[in-house]
Amino acid sequence: MNIILLGAPGAGKGTQATRIAEKYRLPHISTGDIFRDNIKRGTEIGLLAKSYTDKGQLVPDEVTCKIVEGRLKEADCADGYLLDGFPRNLFQAEELDKFSKVDAVINIDIDLSLLMDRLCGRRVCKDCGESYHINFLGGKSDCEKCGGELYQRKDDNEETVGNRLKVYGEQTAPLIEYYRKKNVLINIDGVGTIDEVFARIAAALGQAK
Ligand code: ADP
Ligand code: ADP
Ligand code: ZN
Repeated sequence: MNIILLGAPGAGKGTQATRIAEKYRLPHISTGDIFRDNIKRGTEIGLLAKSYTDKGQLVPDEVTCKIVEGRLKEADCADGYLLDGFPRNLFQAEELDKFSKVDAVINIDIDLSLLMDRLCGRRVCKDCGESYHINFLGGKSDCEKCGGELYQRKDDNEETVGNRLKVYGEQTAPLIEYYRKKNVLINIDGVGTIDEVFARIAAALGQAK
C-alpha cells in the first residue's frame, strides 16, 4: 500500500510512522529527515534546504519533488511506501499524482493549540530519529530504542514553530479536502496516548486493505 501521513507539525506523524512502517513493513520516507541528513552532510541540497528549514518555510517544490520522485523509484518502494511530510501543498500533491498512486492518506487530526508544547519539548535521537518529549523522558538523555544521544531540533523553537504552524494552515491543511475528494482520506483523532493513536490507525488501515 502507498500511504501518506498528513498532519500539522507535532501532530505525531514521525512517532506513528515508525510504528506503521514496522507493522506493515513499509519504507518510512520523511522529507524532513532527508533534508536534515543533507544539512548534516553539508551537501548542495543541504545548504539550500537549511535557509528554509531554519525559518520554518517550505523548501522549494522543484527540489523537494525531485527528491521524492527519485526516492520512490528505489527498489524498496516497489511494494508500497509510507510518506511522512510530503506532500505539503497542492502543487506537491499534484506532482505526486503524476509519478505515483496514493492508496490511503492518514490525517492525524489535533487542535493546533497543543502543538507549541509538543514541538518545543520534543527531543530527537540523532542516530535513529525517534521522537521523545521532555515530559515523558524523566530526565533521560539517550534513546530508549538504540541508546543514541537525544537533541533538540534547531527549528523546534517558539518563533520557528509559529511560522511552521502558519505555513501548515495556509498551504498544507487544504490537502485534507484534496484527498477527501479523491476518497482516500482516513481521519484519525490525534489526541490520546501514542498507543491509542496507533491502535486507531491500525484499525482504519485494516479496513482499508
Ligand atoms: P511530527 O512528526 O508530526 O512533527 P512527532 O511524531 O515528532 O510529530 O511528535 C511531536 C512531539 O509530540 C514529540 O515530542 C512526541 O514525543 C510527542 N508526541 C507524539 N505523539 C504523541 C501523543 N499521542 N501524545 C503526546 N505526545 C505525543
Ligand atoms: P515536522 O514533522 O515537525 O512538521 P519535518 O521534519 O516534516 O517537520 O520538516 C522540517 C522542515 O523541512 C520543514 O519546516 C520544511 O522546511 C522542510 N520540509 C519537509 N518536508 C517538506 C516538503 N514536503 N516540502 C517543503 N519543505 C519540506
Ligand atoms: Zn535512537
